[in-house]
Amino acid sequence: MTQAPARPQSGSTFESLNPATGEVVGTHPVQTEEEVRAAVARARQEATWWAGLSFGERKAHLNAWKTLMTQRLPELADLVSREMGKPASDAMLEAGLAVDHIAWAAGNAKKVLGRHKVSSGLLMVNQSATVAFKPLGVVGVIGPWNYPVFTPMGSIAYALAAGNAVVFKPSEYTPGVGGWLVQTFQEAVGRPVLQLITGLGETGSFLCRAGVDKLAFTGSTATGKKVMAACAETLTPVVIEAGGKDSVIVDADADIDAAADAALWGACANAGQTCIGVERVYVHEKVYDEFVSSITAKAAGLEAVEGGKIGPITMPSQVGVIRSHVQDAIDRGGRAVLGGPEAVGDRFVQPTILVDVPEDSLAVQEETFGPTLTIAKVASMDEAVEKTNATRYGLGNTVFSKANGMAIAERVRSGMSAVNGVITFAGIPSLPFGGVGDSGFGRIHGPEGLKEFTYAKAIARQKFKPMINLTSFERTEKADKQLAQVLGLLHGRGKK
Ligand code: NAD
Repeated sequence: MTQAPARPQSGSTFESLNPATGEVVGTHPVQTEEEVRAAVARARQEATWWAGLSFGERKAHLNAWKTLMTQRLPELADLVSREMGKPASDAMLEAGLAVDHIAWAAGNAKKVLGRHKVSSGLLMVNQSATVAFKPLGVVGVIGPWNYPVFTPMGSIAYALAAGNAVVFKPSEYTPGVGGWLVQTFQEAVGRPVLQLITGLGETGSFLCRAGVDKLAFTGSTATGKKVMAACAETLTPVVIEAGGKDSVIVDADADIDAAADAALWGACANAGQTCIGVERVYVHEKVYDEFVSSITAKAAGLEAVEGGKIGPITMPSQVGVIRSHVQDAIDRGGRAVLGGPEAVGDRFVQPTILVDVPEDSLAVQEETFGPTLTIAKVASMDEAVEKTNATRYGLGNTVFSKANGMAIAERVRSGMSAVNGVITFAGIPSLPFGGVGDSGFGRIHGPEGLKEFTYAKAIARQKFKPMINLTSFERTEKADKQLAQVLGLLHGRGKK
């Protein structure tokens, strides 16, 4: 048996390795605190230029970047595949969706963030009230390895489109992909508004303390807590996009074939290393047997192998986590209808489907991050919702139901739900993306994702002199009476 590759120790450089073979893909600097501060200082200079551009000018620059990326997508997909192990076609899909987000963020920034009128209300009818959303300055982005293009782009593209400069620290498992993104931005725009820093976790912690105006973190919940604690020292606001334990809920009237197909793909694509991947399924008892047969049949022949549809586990340490979750499920009375403990190899984990697993076991409560899923029988959709909501996470979810999909989805405590599809919300740039509970807070994507990297700037401008001047020491008794009368008319006539 070959040993999974050891990860680099902190030093002046580190290597990114191909998780399928252990081969070195690239060597990168472990950047020091001074270097991180210098990158933030450079970004701050660029931020002034970038924020001074019009929305239209920034859109043109971002579109030039998008075009260059699109022209070189195969090169990017190959690099993603070599550094983190996913099949190149999956990497193409990931990168393609990221490009679409750049286009949306660039194309909608003016409409969402530009100055617009709001009602000034009857008491302040002499005022013109407007609000605009201004860039914060320099945004730090710390990314994970599992979607090394799509995930950080959810922060990078939206922060840039909102007028901020960005300092990006990619995961130590995918620094080459991070470098590629920054290099192509430089080629397309010609100015280092997007800066790269590389290194291990410690370099990320330097970024938290380097005086950025906001820190957007995507990664595990445990690291998210450390990031938030470090940022608290300087009152740096944070966005935390953390882990998940998403479920698929299958109602009695669902299209079982489609639900089984979606659950299997949602669980096993990217070798299960997806924050919004499917880890649990709750199926109505009336269709439970049919669902289990269908998903097991579909999984036959699906193999995690180099060059196959399922790649290796990127992080060697995760193999032990996956093994412990599967073993715990079996030890506590669960049954593997596919795979099982022996399916967990050194670098590759074969698809594993577990049934009869107690709800308080690791495989149901904790993020497994492997191509595994649990299936449980429920007597009603109430029970499915209750069990879905009974973990500390709340990122995404899927519902399969012909009649009640929306009603069930509304009751799930998660940032996103897909009805009769899986993970579809992530590909819709106008929908906000983010979690509740231990899945984090703040939003990327959509109008909310643009606003996340701004502050609201409100302006009240006097159009004409007020009938009653309220904000003056010259306010008269008569004015006070008039105000009381107006308030009575406006708010005093309802039922007690
Ligand atoms: P991780 O928490 O190990 O690392 C994420 C990033 O944080 C890396 O760049 C790492 O170098 C950096 N880091 C580590 N220690 C740090 C510290 N003390 N201070 C600052 N930065 C530090 O996560 P990972 O293994 O790279 O990614 C997998 C996790 O990410 C999973 O839990 C997955 O669910 C989650 N994820 C969430 C989303 C989402 O949008 N919610 C998307 C993708 C992945």
